Amino acid sequence: MAKFLFVTDLDNTLVGDDNALIELYDRLQKHREEYGTKIVYATGRSPILYQELKKEKNLLDPDALILAVGTEIYTNGSHTPDSAWSEELSPGWNRNLVVAITTHFSELVPQPDSEQRPFKVSFFLEQTKAVKIIPQLESDLQKSGLNVKLIYSSGIDLDIVPRSSDKGQAVQFLRQKWKFVAEKTVVCGDSGNDIALFAVGVERGVIVGNARPELLQWHNENPADYHYLAKDFCAGGILEGLKHFGFL
Ligand SMILES: [Mg+2]
Repeated sequence: MAKFLFVTDLDNTLVGDDNALIELYDRLQKHREEYGTKIVYATGRSPILYQELKKEKNLLDPDALILAVGTEIYTNGSHTPDSAWSEELSPGWNRNLVVAITTHFSELVPQPDSEQRPFKVSFFLEQTKAVKIIPQLESDLQKSGLNVKLIYSSGIDLDIVPRSSDKGQAVQFLRQKWKFVAEKTVVCGDSGNDIALFAVGVERGVIVGNARPELLQWHNENPADYHYLAKDFCAGGILEGLKHFGFL
């Protein structure tokens, strides 16, 4: 057995099956103590919503946290985002300009203030309207010289973030910082904002059995032998995948 970098989404991936989570945590915690395996959560949640879930589900303290769909990285329990990562996101980002452009789209419903972050502007957008609105919005943002991208997830969440930011890019940053090769890194997810975790390189990928249609469709269109579609749901699916790849 050797150490590995374990990266997982939270909602409906790590969290969703309490009994399976207890078993997974038991295995991971032992692995961390014995081999130096690192545990990373990569979530769309803001710090406030992360803390709520952490308390509710008694989540283990991770070695690093990737919050707000990859726009913020916190290591070793720090409450301040990693400044080297923030610097990488700054070129071509202008939060006020992004907000100004989005006001022209009445279909966009702003998410609560807690979810509006220095490098993320977030809305609710109904799936039926998304097909029409997203390309128009993308075009308007580009015309203004902004270097941004749109991430649409779970049929409702629309995030506008710097182009160089997503969960996958944030994992690359941590991999390099901690010197883990892609083959010793495993990423786990269930929805659209997790595609970046799977698409960024040859990291081992576990797609949980309850994955949403947008991720399953991406997986069908981009098959790879280093991605595993689990049968079990949530933490049960993660356990299944970690065994499949020989990490546990
Ligand atoms: Mg999720």
